[in-house]
Amino acid sequence: MSQLPDVKGHFGPYGGRYVPETLVKACEELTAAYRKIKRDKKFHEELRYYLESYAGRPTALYEAKNLSAKFGRGRIFLKREDLLHTGAHKINSTLAQGLLAKRLGKTRLVAETGAGQHGVATATAACVFGLKCVVYMGAVDIERQALNVYKMKLLGAEVRPVHSGSKTLKDATNEAIRDWVTNVEDTHYLLGSVVGPHPYPEMVREFQSVIGKETRRQIVKQAGRLPNYLIACVGGGSNSMGFFHPFLKDRSVRIVGIEAAGEGVSTPHHAASITKGRPGILHGMKSYLLQDKNGQVLLAHSISAGLDYPSVGPEHAYLKDSGRVSYYAVTDGDALKGFEVLTKLEGIMPALEPSHALGYLPKLMPKTKKNDIVIVCISGRGDKDIHTVQQYL
Ligand SMILES: *Cc1c(COP(=O)(O)O)cnc(C)c1O
Repeated sequence: MSQLPDVKGHFGPYGGRYVPETLVKACEELTAAYRKIKRDKKFHEELRYYLESYAGRPTALYEAKNLSAKFGRGRIFLKREDLLHTGAHKINSTLAQGLLAKRLGKTRLVAETGAGQHGVATATAACVFGLKCVVYMGAVDIERQALNVYKMKLLGAEVRPVHSGSKTLKDATNEAIRDWVTNVEDTHYLLGSVVGPHPYPEMVREFQSVIGKETRRQIVKQAGRLPNYLIACVGGGSNSMGFFHPFLKDRSVRIVGIEAAGEGVSTPHHAASITKGRPGILHGMKSYLLQDKNGQVLLAHSISAGLDYPSVGPEHAYLKDSGRVSYYAVTDGDALKGFEVLTKLEGIMPALEPSHALGYLPKLMPKTKKNDIVIVCISGRGDKDIHTVQQYL
């Protein structure tokens, strides 16, 4: 199972590379470069330096005893990606891809962003590696996320508003791809999750797998064995894929991915692409996709902007079909409760994305036994969401 994808980037029927002729060469060049650095000790040493000394790895694995006591069953541990520089796991991939772009001799990064978190993480990597940075962002999102837009500008990035379609993430992604096609000689497209054409789903998973590899070492050290459950939120699917992947072969570890149910999966306002989507093609890949009966892509909704994507990484689609990972959807309201509980009991304010994973604990914990170990990936910190929380509570 960990041999996936195949050489063409397929995870079973999903993934692949659905791109125009002009991008095939760019994708192939990137795949070749990625294969090369994968075996390159120097690259990994350099990357490790940045991850440790700049971003703050390894992140802590913390046993949340107060939270565990609330349920009175298994032991809950938190993988603290919220402690990283810039406040979330996204920096793991932007530093790695920034370094790769530099190796390739590229001088310019382009990225898409919805809430602005990936834009800020990309602009940060561009600073570190001395690269130019252009971030495409839907005009609607620019208005909603003024603070992140300003941060990107302070970091020296150019933020280009996108006025087509719904003026949100999906449209910004199309524009970023268009820019890459035009400027492929000097530009690396720094994709923000385990989505897009091959090799991105595999490459971003590998760069994020540092989360799961650390967790594995840490839990064995702290508890003397592997966990019974892993839980993470799934937007595009990168923090979860990086967290899950090193455990996929361990059959005793139950793995749970949590999507955003928004106002409920029976309403039109949700982002549950695995629960409610059908296979389709978007942004160069085949995967589960929220679409109407004519195949038009539907708008996703979630209280957390990072989960607000109408599709999901193709490896998740595969893991859903194979049954290796179970997927559930958690509503805005239950995510807010997850946020409040962790804040009050542990003094940790999580981002609203991982609050969805926490929102599943009231369902899961009563099923656990006293000594079961549950690890939740806290993908980011909640500072960015305090305003939203204030509006809802
Ligand atoms: C962007 C983001 C996510 C969603 O992206 P994935 O690719 O699914 O990980 C989750 N949590 C946080 C904190 C984010 O910023």
